[in-house]
Amino acid sequence: MENCLREMVWKKDRQICEAYLACNGKHEHEAIVTFLKLTQPQTSQGLHIVHIAAEIAPVAKVGGLGDVVLGLSKALQRKGHLVEIVLPKYDCLQEDQITELKALDVAVESFFDGQLFKNKIWVGIVEGLPVYFIEPHHPSKFFWRGEFYGEHDDFKRFSFFSRAALELLYQAGKKPDIIHCHDWQTAFVAPLYWDIYAAKGFNSARICFTCHNFEYQGTAHFSELSSCGLDIHRLNRPDRMQDNSAPDRINPLKGAIVFSNIVTTVSPTYAQEVCTPEGGRGLHGTLRLHSKKFVGVLNGIDTDSWNPSTDIILPVQYSADDLQGKAENKRALRTQLELSSADAFQPLVCCITRLVPQKGVHLIRHAIYQTVELGGQFVLLGSSPVAHIQRDFEGIASHFKNHPHVRLLLKYDDALSHMIYAASDMFIIPSLFEPCGLTQMIAMRYGSVPIVRRTGGLNDSVFDVDDDTIPVQYRNGFTFLTPNEQELNNVMERAFKYYKKSPENWQKLVQKIMRLDFSWESSAQQYEELYEKTVTRARAAANV
Ligand code: ADP
Repeated sequence: MENCLREMVWKKDRQICEAYLACNGKHEHEAIVTFLKLTQPQTSQGLHIVHIAAEIAPVAKVGGLGDVVLGLSKALQRKGHLVEIVLPKYDCLQEDQITELKALDVAVESFFDGQLFKNKIWVGIVEGLPVYFIEPHHPSKFFWRGEFYGEHDDFKRFSFFSRAALELLYQAGKKPDIIHCHDWQTAFVAPLYWDIYAAKGFNSARICFTCHNFEYQGTAHFSELSSCGLDIHRLNRPDRMQDNSAPDRINPLKGAIVFSNIVTTVSPTYAQEVCTPEGGRGLHGTLRLHSKKFVGVLNGIDTDSWNPSTDIILPVQYSADDLQGKAENKRALRTQLELSSADAFQPLVCCITRLVPQKGVHLIRHAIYQTVELGGQFVLLGSSPVAHIQRDFEGIASHFKNHPHVRLLLKYDDALSHMIYAASDMFIIPSLFEPCGLTQMIAMRYGSVPIVRRTGGLNDSVFDVDDDTIPVQYRNGFTFLTPNEQELNNVMERAFKYYKKSPENWQKLVQKIMRLDFSWESSAQQYEELYEKTVTRARAAANV
């Protein structure tokens, strides 16, 4: 019991905070019963949960969102819930990852720009999960762009999709308990649901909204909102969807915060950061106003697909009990990338990331040179949607083109990412902000020790090996706070020293981090509890 409670404290599980507050003034034995309840498995009836999202790995993945929709859905399904997912039918879907994909014999008509458009509905199975794909028959060919995002009309594309997704659920006669939407692209679902669909009697569900990154809010001129049928006059108000800094703009993310029953973000620390003027990107006031329904739940990772002992992409599988395979993966990667293999013990520092300002690109660049300075090797896998950053890194890549110790691979390559996680000794993440971050958890699962800046989810999952204020069993990496080159030098020097001083201790650290549990189980349980609470409240209200 003690271990279980301690772990909940470390994961900043909100139940433990609530239990603590509930115990105020109670007798000791009552307090013990309250805490004991937290450690016992919850029994629940299955809920019907529908995720409406712009990504699901591996068929449509740009970043962490795709991983989260997949991992959370699978974990909820394992807990006995009926989970369905609705996505756009992009032309660039990885269809080989979908089984039994077929077009349904129905056309769902949905409203946009004053008229009805037909949508072809496809259904298929992704890693055991039923997924509906919506293919709009709209002259703008919204999802035939060879890209997921980044189009000039993204606001139109995704407001169309949000409306069509709700129309599909409504016309199919579904009665979900929870509709869970993600990020600004599907934020329109919340106001659409309460303003249009609940009035039609489609009101069984409560809305959960997860913001994976407050940097992306999807604002547009307010006139654009009416296309999907939302009422500008009702919604373009400071307490509803009007952007907090530009009154002529509408903010879908704000709309989802106002209109959802549950609002979450992807780590407890980030949840605190976004409630401050520096972190909230203009939405801190709105979040504070709705703080009762706002909570941070740390993401997990899909431990089936990220598992070094079964990962068929790797040249050699390995586990914490048998690290020989890890050394062989390092050798194989060095050979493949034509890096020097002269010293098997030379530390390999890696980084896999989108190269965007949030990730601390100037510090990533600095880490490359600092690694060489410290006698290590560096591999970067990353690409940038920002032209000048991509150009800058192309310059560095060509500078190191034939270098024995540095390789920059400026592309997105899932298979290669697995090989890099497996080969690396250290993994660097110097983000300026990081809502949750998955790469530190994947890196640890593959035995690569994280070196991270203490922000957002990195602060909730990486604890410095030299920090005496942290219980030894939780220490699992190297951290720094101030995002400058000096601090980065210091933390990298500490990591290299630790690595070189005692190979035995390093190996113990590697084994320890590989055994940590970053699965979705405990996070999915937190979502399950949030869902159940809101559903119970809704049912109680309906029975009054
Ligand atoms: P974000 O969502 O901000 O991009 P996360 O750390 O939450 O960052 O998730 C990143 C995910 O994308 C991880 O699964 C990581 O392995 C993957 N990834 C990032 N860049 C690349 C790349 N260039 N090639 C392959 N996978 C990548």
